Amino acid sequence: MKYFSTRGDPARRGFSDILLEGLAPDGGLYLPAAYPKVDAGMLARWRDIAGRSYAELAFEILSLYIDDIPLSDLKRLVHATYTEAVFGTREITPLAKLEDGLFVQALSNGPTLAFKDMAMQLLGRLFEYELARRGEHLNILGATSGDTGSAAEYAMRGKRGIHVFMLSPDGRMSPFQQAQMFSLQDANIHNIAIEGVFDECQDIVKAVSNDLEFKRRWKIGTVNSINWARLLAQVVYYFAGYFQATRSNEQKVSFAVPSGNFGNICAGHVARTMGLPIHRLVLATNENDVLDEFFRTGTYRPRSTQETHETSSPSMDISKASNFERFVFDLLGHDAAAGARTKELFGETLARDGGFTITRDEFARIAGFGFVSGRSTHADRLATIRATWQGSRRLVDTHTADGLKVAREHLERGVPMIVLETAQPAKFAATIEEAFSEGDAGGGAGPGPGAAPVPELPAALRGIEKLPRRVTVLPADVARVKRHIEAHAEA
Ligand SMILES: *Cc1c(COP(=O)(O)O)cnc(C)c1O
Repeated sequence: MKYFSTRGDPARRGFSDILLEGLAPDGGLYLPAAYPKVDAGMLARWRDIAGRSYAELAFEILSLYIDDIPLSDLKRLVHATYTEAVFGTREITPLAKLEDGLFVQALSNGPTLAFKDMAMQLLGRLFEYELARRGEHLNILGATSGDTGSAAEYAMRGKRGIHVFMLSPDGRMSPFQQAQMFSLQDANIHNIAIEGVFDECQDIVKAVSNDLEFKRRWKIGTVNSINWARLLAQVVYYFAGYFQATRSNEQKVSFAVPSGNFGNICAGHVARTMGLPIHRLVLATNENDVLDEFFRTGTYRPRSTQETHETSSPSMDISKASNFERFVFDLLGHDAAAGARTKELFGETLARDGGFTITRDEFARIAGFGFVSGRSTHADRLATIRATWQGSRRLVDTHTADGLKVAREHLERGVPMIVLETAQPAKFAATIEEAFSEGDAGGGAGPGPGAAPVPELPAALRGIEKLPRRVTVLPADVARVKRHIEAHAEA
């Protein structure tokens, strides 16, 4: 299995070469040169395996894409990752029925209570393995406003050959998010609270990474959402969800996905391309609707920071969708001509005009890929959280509520709809409270304030706000951050 760039560079690379890298040298994203296809025999075998072990299913799928790590090693890494101890249930991504034909698949039972753990936990093990094999080490530098940073830290903590330097805006994350990150006592995790806003954190990361001499000297790397291994790990739960929702491989299901950077739903697209019987991929955005706009109109217009709304589903507050280029390349045919056209759209038109519109013919192909979309607002989230509790006694978080709201607009008779649950409600307790304090506003159907549900943290996370903290506060100054890295990094 070889990988190539979405922008037409003819170079082919192995999995472990692209594992530790970000963008391809031509600025594109890596994709497999050809997607492996699953046939009826494989699907039947995998349904059997999925009933026994998520880890075993993950191994089957990953081994189709990874041929430069010995199978016995890959198996060990995958089985060490997807355990009941780490993900809370034997099923790892259990499916719950809300009503006939409508399900929620929980991807949020990992250490940080958000779906990013699904991929990041595996990435931590793959990184540690590959670095040891090469006798190398890595200093991961990142900026976070919440979820991604903590998922990275919980995946990399205690891993040999890896240090993590995570910048966050001082005092601007929720108390729970701060506690989650800052309570980690591992020597290889370095929290840096920057006196500034998130954009300043991100600018510092860019400035440090653009200093190529410093980057080489200190082996600076990232764990951003365009990493192919992260996407690949996410393909597995589409299969796992499908097998739980159906009895036969003749059936089709649809998935609804709360989306931001297009990483999660892109994994669904890969699963569908491999041959998993997915009818629709329902893309849900919040008020930051750059992707909904594309799937309705064919125009992709990333927003500026000023145009990006701060919403109550903050992990979907994106201005541009960093994984989206992968889908466009596939839409255009996944070949050399598609590479040239993708390069034109993303490398030239986007940079020049701030956006692009695909042709009518290109737009017409989207239907064949199963994609439909919709958008959800703060009021929709509150109403959905309330209605889902009233109807099914399940408390969902704000992101999952966006997915559910849009899923309902695309229900089709005879096709089960699986909404991916991307976070636990306890992480967004303030909005949950708001949803139920308005309970009677919609005509008296809501529970009184006394009956409002209170989202509960898993036992292991209760009281983390009181734990000692490991964090260094620094001014928004590139030189100061560099000095901090030099003082603490593995050289
Ligand atoms: C990251 C995240 C999303 C968005 O996922 P993408 O892969 O960026 O589309 C949705 N919900 C939650 C809770 C997240 O953390």
